[in-house]
Amino acid sequence: MRPTFERSPTRKATLYCFNCGHKSILSGDWIVRTHGECIDYECPECRTRIATRPTRTDSVADSNGGLCYSPGD
Ligand SMILES: [Zn+2]
Repeated sequence: MRPTFERSPTRKATLYCFNCGHKSILSGDWIVRTHGECIDYECPECRTRIATRPTRTDSVADSNGGLCYSPGD
């Protein structure tokens, strides 16, 4: 069951893959990897990491700005 395009006024965060142009809503078909306090969203087509979000919204944006940077993999 797929929603029709651009019909619903619900604002869903949309992510774009800056590598291959894949586009999907945040809860779409991204590969989601949870590690520690972070959630990575990866492109299902080219496996590029699109975004990293904290699993907790409190306790973020304090002095520890680099919370969700992973040292590359
Ligand atoms: Zn991609």
